[in-house]
Amino acid sequence: MFEKISAAPADPILGLTEEFKADPREDKINLGVGVYKNEHGETPVLTSVKKAEALLLDKETSKSYLSIPGTAEYGLAVQQLLFGEHADVIKDKRAQTAHSPGGTGALRLAGEFIKRHLGDVTIWISNPTWANHKGVFTAAGLTLAEYSYYDPAKNDKDFSAMVADLEKAAAGDVVLLHGCCHNPTGIDPTEQEWQTLADLCQRKGLLPMFDFAYQGFAKGVEEDAVGLRIFANVCPELLIASSFSKNFGLYNERVGAFTLVGRQEQEAVTAFSQVKSIARVIYSNPPAHGAAVVTTILNDPTLKAEWLQELATMRDRIKAMRTEFVKTLKAQGVSRDFSFIEQQNGMFSFSGLNKDQVNALKADHGVYIVGSGRLNVAGMTHTNMVPLCTAIAKVLD
Ligand code: PMP
Repeated sequence: MFEKISAAPADPILGLTEEFKADPREDKINLGVGVYKNEHGETPVLTSVKKAEALLLDKETSKSYLSIPGTAEYGLAVQQLLFGEHADVIKDKRAQTAHSPGGTGALRLAGEFIKRHLGDVTIWISNPTWANHKGVFTAAGLTLAEYSYYDPAKNDKDFSAMVADLEKAAAGDVVLLHGCCHNPTGIDPTEQEWQTLADLCQRKGLLPMFDFAYQGFAKGVEEDAVGLRIFANVCPELLIASSFSKNFGLYNERVGAFTLVGRQEQEAVTAFSQVKSIARVIYSNPPAHGAAVVTTILNDPTLKAEWLQELATMRDRIKAMRTEFVKTLKAQGVSRDFSFIEQQNGMFSFSGLNKDQVNALKADHGVYIVGSGRLNVAGMTHTNMVPLCTAIAKVLD
């Protein structure tokens, strides 16, 4: 029966990791998959996470199932991180949160919820966007449309084109926004632009959905939520997919959350009952450990302070690498202006390198970046910086 099945194409990002692993060159450099690395090229477990795990190991008395949306403590901790500790949305019980297997699980829950309960609507995604958005929403059966986001000529956002495209959306359509650290460009809306977008969604009756996978990687946990919080003030209904893979370094624990905000408590509770029945038939109930770690850290002031410090260290290291990258490229004789990379947020930057240059970097220099030219800045270190920039200088020649 299986002989007729043809091979699926490799995932553009995870497939690259496989190629990287198989590459025998010792000086190879991986700037592909979006994983934070420290100066030694490692992705260590955070100390705050280790301490929370030690506490949990001691306390744990049962491995019995969680409820479908996970624990109430986790849901509240997630909401406080998203909206702020004393937000009205929380006080008014308009937000309902389901603990999901990673941010991807939250996006899939959202996709299924939209498909089954919001009618024949279109989901608008940015061009470009994280490669898996299209896959997840197509798998959920949604119709996709793209809004402009990036101007390659300026290496910057094209906000007026974005607004012009979203003006074409129909009432009821869903608009997917990156909460911060836009993947793959690293370029975020300003506070003023967030306000304009929120007003546009409200005026046109569009449903905003935030993909929030990098909270704390741009400026800080509170600062990075500014866009979402503007929307929460302006728009009565919202969907949010959170991921704690990056900001807690909990990649393989698969910890994320799907949050639904309704106009009032009862509506939110009723709509959320449908989210629970969707989760039930996909994965039944979530894996406990990662969310227990997040809850323990966020509810313990000392551990939370330590986590915020560790997050700041990751953020600052990436910023330092951006500066050093731009400086080293210049020192290697590259005349093209890469200074825009210093202005961008989070792990990723769109380098502007084309497909041939990306291929030459891999084939000739063992430097792995995604085909779109997206760089994971977090993969840069003081040690690999000169070889990396030398290789880029060569392929640009
Ligand atoms: N959204 C974006 C924009 C991402 O970059 C990622 C992870 N690369 C995710 C969602 C998925 O996160 P997770 O690994 O928690 O499923």
